[in-house]
Amino acid sequence: MATESYEEAIAGLSKLLSVKADLGGVAAARIKQITAELEAVGSKQFDPVERIKTGFVHFKKEKFEKNPALYGELAKGQSPKFLVFACSDSRVCPSHVLNFQPGEAFVVRNIANMVPPFDTTKYSGVGAAIEYAVLHLKVENIVIIGHSCCGGIKGLMSIPDDGTIASEFIENWVKICSPAKTKVKAEYSELSFHEQCTNCEKEAVNVSLGNLLTYPFVRDGVVKQTVALKGAHYDFIKGTFDLWDLDFKIIPSLSSA
Ligand SMILES: [Zn+2]
Repeated sequence: MATESYEEAIAGLSKLLSVKADLGGVAAARIKQITAELEAVGSKQFDPVERIKTGFVHFKKEKFEKNPALYGELAKGQSPKFLVFACSDSRVCPSHVLNFQPGEAFVVRNIANMVPPFDTTKYSGVGAAIEYAVLHLKVENIVIIGHSCCGGIKGLMSIPDDGTIASEFIENWVKICSPAKTKVKAEYSELSFHEQCTNCEKEAVNVSLGNLLTYPFVRDGVVKQTVALKGAHYDFIKGTFDLWDLDFKIIPSLSSA
């Protein structure tokens, strides 16, 4: 309907200009003005407060108020079964991808979902989260989820051999998984850079799984079999989710989900 009336309007204008050619200049000026106005409407400023409000109202109406039993339970405490490491990337929220409900997963998100080795000062933010999840919440599973097209991994793979870095934090952070880069460069040198990055996304998860074992309380949990460690890779282009155990055995049921 809108297209019709737009076409009618243009047709009307063309007809008018065909008989009154001297109005061409005026028409051109007015059209320019209208175009500028429409551009302003089209790029109507994003209102972050409005977006947050709309989001919360939706959540409250559709989730919070419809599940009083769940939220009543959660008000008393949490006992999630999972500690999840996921990338900060806006496309890989584990609650969306794995349908985790509130209370199910204690989540750490950082650049390229990395677990640094045990270090009480350098990486205390991650250490505190692992300590809290394992010792206080007693999570039974730790899952590290890598993902396709990870910018952090691309950044790691792009650090030149001479080690020159150009960022304040990013490269020093992703260097946590340098052993993954070294392995990929050695074993997959014939692959394209993109394919090397995909392999590194998975190898970096394995480095992080190894780093988890440098935390004494994680190692204890694994030895006593109270904590299971799992690696994963979510591919948001193919729509697949691979999951593997600490012994790197792929769990087949998920690989072609
Ligand atoms: Zn990422």
